[in-house]
Amino acid sequence: MHHVVVSGLGPAGATLLYELASRGYSVLGIDRERFPRYKSCGGCISTKIDTLKGLDLNPLIETPVYGATFSYRQDRYVDIFSDEPVAYNVKRDLFDAYLVERAKKAGATVIEGCKVEDFLEEKDHIRVVCEGGKSFSARFFVCADGAGSLVARKHFSLNPKEFGISYTMEIPVDEAETEKMLGTLYIDFGEVPFGYGWIFPKKGLLSVGVAGESKKCKGRLRQDFEKFLQNHKILAGRALKEKVHGWMLPIYHSDGHPVIKGRALAVGDAAHLVDPFLGEGIYYAMASAQAAAESIMEAIEENTTGFESYREYLKREFYPEFRALSKLAGLVYTHPRLWYRMVEKEPQIMLRYYDVIRGRRRADEFYRWVLSKVIKKPWKVLRRWLEDKFLRTG
Ligand SMILES: Cc1cc2nc3c(=O)[nH]c(=O)nc-3n(C[C@H](O)[C@H](O)[C@H](O)COP(=O)(O)OP(=O)(O)OC[C@H]3O[C@@H](n4cnc5c(N)ncnc54)[C@H](O)[C@@H]3O)c2cc1C
Repeated sequence: MHHVVVSGLGPAGATLLYELASRGYSVLGIDRERFPRYKSCGGCISTKIDTLKGLDLNPLIETPVYGATFSYRQDRYVDIFSDEPVAYNVKRDLFDAYLVERAKKAGATVIEGCKVEDFLEEKDHIRVVCEGGKSFSARFFVCADGAGSLVARKHFSLNPKEFGISYTMEIPVDEAETEKMLGTLYIDFGEVPFGYGWIFPKKGLLSVGVAGESKKCKGRLRQDFEKFLQNHKILAGRALKEKVHGWMLPIYHSDGHPVIKGRALAVGDAAHLVDPFLGEGIYYAMASAQAAAESIMEAIEENTTGFESYREYLKREFYPEFRALSKLAGLVYTHPRLWYRMVEKEPQIMLRYYDVIRGRRRADEFYRWVLSKVIKKPWKVLRRWLEDKFLRTG
């Protein structure tokens, strides 16, 4: 009997294993894949990750990111850079394998290539059932098996209707070519309805993708991806034969989303903890795992099952930010042309947003500030929008 069984060893599950194993608890982590494995992702982690305790990312970071080259429908390129890093780019296969290895070294037991199918509450423990009928018992169970989690759909209302959807491609290029791009993100607004397109350069590799809200862009996102690949200045003219991956982003949609059920709890993507504006999820996966680990340790030591401190953590630290980012997404993605025009004219809007990404400025404060610009000077904003829509040539 383990203290905890964890299903899924992405950033959330592997962090949770590490936190508990390094404090001497008996933990078992199960993943259906074998590491290193591919994960559809931009691999861009905000510098708020530095606030997580006990994590040394130095071996994995190629170059800090200082800003981005933005575009509107692959045109009107604008560079907005800061003096300090905003994010780090990592290769997800290496990053995730590193976290799993770190958990193993701390004493966690790991089973790879085994699919978790369900869990059953018994009187004083939980039974985790895997493919082929194999089962494992523990005092607690953590569901960390991501956006595709069947367990989270059944027990924690993970809801595909509320997802973002995406297409991505990893394009190998000469290291010399990416050398000058490292430290920059390429972000395009306007091509994808209710979403955006990106190119995140890594050493010898371009991570390229588009993502948008499923309700708004279902059925047309694949075509938008083709357009993005053909038209972006960095990609135009290349013969691209790499595999296209489609995947889902379980963006935040409600504070009331269930994350606790008896002796089980959900973390990371399985708990809908993805930022609804840019789709950032790695930080939230790892931070939620650390908070869940604290709550589980309390439950073990005090012989309780409430996990109230985990629920409170999400309410305090995540949901207010997600609510504000959701409103910001509504504003930006409903009016991408207007947003782009504002950012083009006033790059300090983006510089201020970089502080939100860094975790130094609150998202609700930023949203109110942007909104006040629109409300205080509606004529100026309307004029910009009209100029942009009707007078702009080229
Ligand atoms: C296209 C795209 C781009 C993204 N870009 C970024 C980005 O640049 N920056 C960022 O911060 N976030 C990004 N995200 C979000 C980020 O990838 C996720 O939020 C993050 O991976 C969540 O971590 P997790 O551990 O919760 O889940 P995952 O990383 O999905 O890990 C889940 C694990 O569970 C395993 N698993 C699944 N089912 C089972 C099962 N039945 N049994 C056992 N194991 C199972 C999987 O093999 C996997 O290893 C992106 C997402 C997408 C789709």
